[in-house]
Amino acid sequence: MAQAKRRGSVRTILLLLVLLFVLPTPLLSCSSSEGDEPPSPEPAVESVEQGKLSLLVSADDEAAADGPLSVDVTDTPDDGEKINATITVSPGEPLDLNYGPGSYTFVIAGRTVGETVYAEAESTVEFDGTHDQTVSLDVQVDDEATKALADQRAAEEAARAQAEAEAQARAQAEAEAQARAQAEAEAERQRAEAAAPSQTNERTVYITRTGEKYHESWCSSLRKSKIPISLSEAEAQGYEPCKNCH
Ligand SMILES: [Zn+2]
Repeated sequence: MAQAKRRGSVRTILLLLVLLFVLPTPLLSCSSSEGDEPPSPEPAVESVEQGKLSLLVSADDEAAADGPLSVDVTDTPDDGEKINATITVSPGEPLDLNYGPGSYTFVIAGRTVGETVYAEAESTVEFDGTHDQTVSLDVQVDDEATKALADQRAAEEAARAQAEAEAQARAQAEAEAQARAQAEAEAERQRAEAAAPSQTNERTVYITRTGEKYHESWCSSLRKSKIPISLSEAEAQGYEPCKNCH
């Protein structure tokens, strides 16, 4: 009996041992297999190669690099849809172009900014659409044209200054001639004034202390008194012309 009991205990211990060593194995293997599993399948990347075309405008010159530039685009497309456009690009900033495969020509027209002339920049690219391509356009100062422009402006400025000086001299001569004519006219007027006494009514006549007539200076009636008075004043005061002297 006791032996049977003991055998039973041994079986129990064995069972426990088995449980201890066997059970965890699948658990362990389970957990480890989870770690080994490849990462959850990522969305399959479409392996269709599709490149993009971008345009990069560069300019060493500060003035040219400042602000957007107009780029004319023409193409000989593969898809038959002709592009003839003008796009605006900021120097130093790559611009992605949504263009399909084809041959593209990019042109930045020559231009003048202030006193600087920039040469035309042109670049043609054969874009096959399968990989990224960047077209570069470099805006450069046209030294020769810039110098020619400076010379031309200097010549224009000199001509302008000369014309201005001439106009000023003419105006001054005219002003002087006018001043002379005015002075002459004034002198003439003064001469005429001096030559001809003023023809006013303020002729002087003479009255006496008691008489009611006015007289010329030579009248014999003025022997006792001879008071000068203007003709208009004499008439205003009621004096009448003397019959002897008038
Ligand atoms: Zn008189």
